[in-house]
Amino acid sequence: MSSGYEAELKTAIQAVTLASVICRSVQKTIADDAMEKKDRSPVTVADFASQAVICKQLRDVFSEDSIVAEEDARELRLDENSPFCERIREEIQATGLTATEEEVLNWIDFGNHDGTASRFWTLDPIDGTKGFLRKEQFAISLALIVEGKIQVAALACPNLEAGENWPAAQGVILSAIRGEGAQVVPLDLKDATPQTLRVAATNTAAGARMCESVESGHSSHGWSANVRDQLGTIADPVRIDSQAKYAVVARGDADVYLRLPTRAGYQEKIWDHAGGVLVVEEAGGTVTDIDGKPLDFSKGSTLKDNRGVVVTNGLLHDNVLAAVSAAEQ
Ligand code: AMP
Ligand code: MG
Repeated sequence: MSSGYEAELKTAIQAVTLASVICRSVQKTIADDAMEKKDRSPVTVADFASQAVICKQLRDVFSEDSIVAEEDARELRLDENSPFCERIREEIQATGLTATEEEVLNWIDFGNHDGTASRFWTLDPIDGTKGFLRKEQFAISLALIVEGKIQVAALACPNLEAGENWPAAQGVILSAIRGEGAQVVPLDLKDATPQTLRVAATNTAAGARMCESVESGHSSHGWSANVRDQLGTIADPVRIDSQAKYAVVARGDADVYLRLPTRAGYQEKIWDHAGGVLVVEEAGGTVTDIDGKPLDFSKGSTLKDNRGVVVTNGLLHDNVLAAVSAAEQ
């Protein structure tokens, strides 16, 4: 059975693949002391270049579609930032896409929509910028939302091991169309047969393998420790930046991903979740907020009616939600 979203998925995969090439090439140039020196310019160049090429490719094929992306070109248009624009343009040119600076800025600004259209894409051009700077995990997350429902997802994790099917390969693209399951292919083996993604069958809280943000400012580490105490979970959590956490749950390498609010009032951004959510759901997992409500992607650019995020293999979901609630300080 065909959903009619095959063309969207194909374009989305091509777009995140091209952006991955740029992000990897920029990540290689990052000095080892970039974090200490607080030099964020590589991540900024890659972020804008990734958004530019993805928005361009989407609009070439779907000229009417809106895009809700994390970045915008307002600051880049200031004269003093012209050398920066030139670096972005050069990164894009290295992939074979020739453009003027003005065209690049316009491509970036295709991503300026607010999420009120009935059909729109949402994009995080580099999710997990801290991981990117540490040369660890980051993701490029793209999803199509129609009438408030995620229909298509393409999630590139350029530094995630490809896994036992492709032991020598690094970097994967996970993808899904609603109702049709989720797949993974290595980024660099274009002709590889996609593998179906399936969450793990772990059904004891004691045996649950959890993951969470590296950054304690993004998800409360103390609260999640209390959740594990409640559940009697034995293993320590694995800390990973970006939506790579959704990827590891979807392929069964972890059973639970907790994102527990660090402060009242923070609204999760739709681009930090949409791609990962559909991949996990189509792999058989469950995603809700910490109160057990489905994530509501019909409220603009944030999940303003939700608090935090709980991702599981499905089997553990009710148990985990109860422990999250019991462990709330
Ligand atoms: P992660 O790599 O999972 O730690 O998530 C990175 C994302 O966290 C970024 O893309 C930000 O949009 C988002 N973020 C920033 N501040 C917060 C916060 N206080 N709570 C939750 N997420 C946040
Ligand atoms: Mg992000």
